[in-house]
Amino acid sequence: MAVDKSRPGKNRPVEAGKAGKGGAKRGKAAQAEAPESAAKTPRGRRRVPATRSTKLANRAVKDLLDFGSRQDFEDATRGFVAALDPVIIPGPGGRAAWDMEAYRFIEGDAPDTVNPSLWRQAKLNTISGLFTIHPRIHQVRGHDVSNMTLVAGDTGWIIIDPLLTVETAAASLEFANKHLGKRPVRAIIYTHSHADHFGGVRGVVDESDVRQGRVPILAPDGFMQYAVSENVLAGNAMNRRALYQFGGMLEPSPTGHVCCGLGKALARGTISLIAPTDIVARTGEKRVLDGVEIEFQMANGSEAPAEFMFYFPEFKAICASEVTSHNMHNVLAPRGAEVRNALHWSKYIDETLTLFGSHAELLFASHHWPTWGTANVTAFLARQRDLYRFIHDETLRLVNHGLNMGEIAETIQLPAGLAHDFTCRGYYGTLHHNVKAVYQFYLGWWDGNPATYYQLPRAESGKRMVLAMGGAERVLTEGRRAFAEGDYRWAAEIVNHLVFAEPANAPARALQADILEQIGFQAESGIWRNIFLTGAHELRAGVDRSRAVSTYGPDVLAAMGIDTLLDFLGVKFNSERAGGLQAVVVLHFSDSGETYALEAGNGVLNNSKGRMPRDPDVTLKVTKPAFFRLLGRQATLQALVAEGALSISGRAEVLRALFDLLDEFDPMFELVAPRRNSSVSTKSGSS
Ligand SMILES: [Zn+2]
Repeated sequence: MAVDKSRPGKNRPVEAGKAGKGGAKRGKAAQAEAPESAAKTPRGRRRVPATRSTKLANRAVKDLLDFGSRQDFEDATRGFVAALDPVIIPGPGGRAAWDMEAYRFIEGDAPDTVNPSLWRQAKLNTISGLFTIHPRIHQVRGHDVSNMTLVAGDTGWIIIDPLLTVETAAASLEFANKHLGKRPVRAIIYTHSHADHFGGVRGVVDESDVRQGRVPILAPDGFMQYAVSENVLAGNAMNRRALYQFGGMLEPSPTGHVCCGLGKALARGTISLIAPTDIVARTGEKRVLDGVEIEFQMANGSEAPAEFMFYFPEFKAICASEVTSHNMHNVLAPRGAEVRNALHWSKYIDETLTLFGSHAELLFASHHWPTWGTANVTAFLARQRDLYRFIHDETLRLVNHGLNMGEIAETIQLPAGLAHDFTCRGYYGTLHHNVKAVYQFYLGWWDGNPATYYQLPRAESGKRMVLAMGGAERVLTEGRRAFAEGDYRWAAEIVNHLVFAEPANAPARALQADILEQIGFQAESGIWRNIFLTGAHELRAGVDRSRAVSTYGPDVLAAMGIDTLLDFLGVKFNSERAGGLQAVVVLHFSDSGETYALEAGNGVLNNSKGRMPRDPDVTLKVTKPAFFRLLGRQATLQALVAEGALSISGRAEVLRALFDLLDEFDPMFELVAPRRNSSVSTKSGSS
């Protein structure tokens, strides 16, 4: 592996985290960049266009990478059959589930408000339509954040990954049938447990065909568990943060949303789930679907906890699922997730090279465009393997030299062979946050310095910091100075103290919005851009409560196990209000025959499957759907009793008292400013 570190800083301005290294240009920049020069947005709030620092940083990116290379554009358009015109797919409630037309502004050179490297990726992600990538394999790309692949079997389609929503999946299948000839769906493969690879399944198949064995659905071992449980216990916070990550509140524009790196955007529609009927658990397992042979390679614990890749020997084609993509992926998603194992990730790709690399002539995946030719496929796989290996090994090398998380993120640079490869660029994950993820995976968040082990919470340290700096005006002055010099990271840090100390301080919020926006404009990662621009938007416009989202449609809820659900009740259980409450409830599920004991005490709510307490306060006999409706507040106890779905024996008031102790979570809690009107107190230590 060629390593070129002779020119520190060469690859740096492109990562948003580097915003603010104005260096010698600081003095000049200062004159032109006062926030006062800002234009007004339609809401009457100031919006600063790209500052001189941002323009310089973004223009510098043009010298870093080979923007003359057309290979990705050739691959992303190769085999084009047809495209929707316009590329709009209707969704629920009269709103579009998908609208690529809103991104037609992405053409020509990058505007100053977008990192040119991200702009290039945004262009590639705007290419949409139906593509024949092999005489027997077709893809619909650019109809959702992910791809739907259709493999022609002897008599019908094998569908790989039916997108995120029912609407986009149904429209994509219909479009493929229209142009390729109508064929029945004979089998479905979910490559992994993330919703953008199964959520549209009801758009491509009738559940009765699956139930009666006419259409098998294949999935990797552990699929259902992770598909329904990965985002439950911390789901409210993840959903909120996902709004930042995917930029769901940003309008497409040169100063707004351009793409997510991994794909254009998330479709807005109905998420469904039909349980798989055929689980693959071991590497080397084979299946024949509609006359087509498929050989599987497990990749559980790489990009997803349940994931496989597979190979079509007859077509010499690898489906790499989401283990490889045309960008650096997330070792830790900013929305929040369990940290992924970068070493395992790398080793899976190495195994793919061993198993299929020497004879594959085509590699396609769940996002982005395919790669053709054995030499290109093996080179691509090798670079993706080395990317995750480097992230892992180099982080730990520096860890073992005593560097902490932040220091490693500042120090590390991709070796030249990877840095100059567009498929390794941080359009989705970034090197900056991925190395922190590796650190966290092995060592946790603490850097080992006792002074950072017992810090004040942000609002408390904010007040003291503002005081120590000489008051709000002094902080604003310093923040404006740093902004004017393009020193955005420092500016964001100090103004954040003021926003948390004085959340109603309008000049502080406005300045912080301007600062975050410039960091967003410089970001190479689509999701970093989304995060910073969403923060700026909420500082200016406040939190738009109408944008709250839930990822759980009825299918996902119905598939959720009772254990997961009861664990979530434990999370919702308000220990402070429970006081010394002791209660024992027996839950008997009349449909499944399962019995659980719910025991409240010591401020926690335990659940134990199969335990029969001797003296329960109350016994509840209920069907699982009725219990879900009760917890979802779609039906009252009385209503369920009246319809015969639930019966209570013992002290019903204990049950009501318990349910009253379950918190409701605010789906739109504040992120860029202190929480408001919250019943939750933050213990602030000594003051
Ligand atoms: Zn995906």
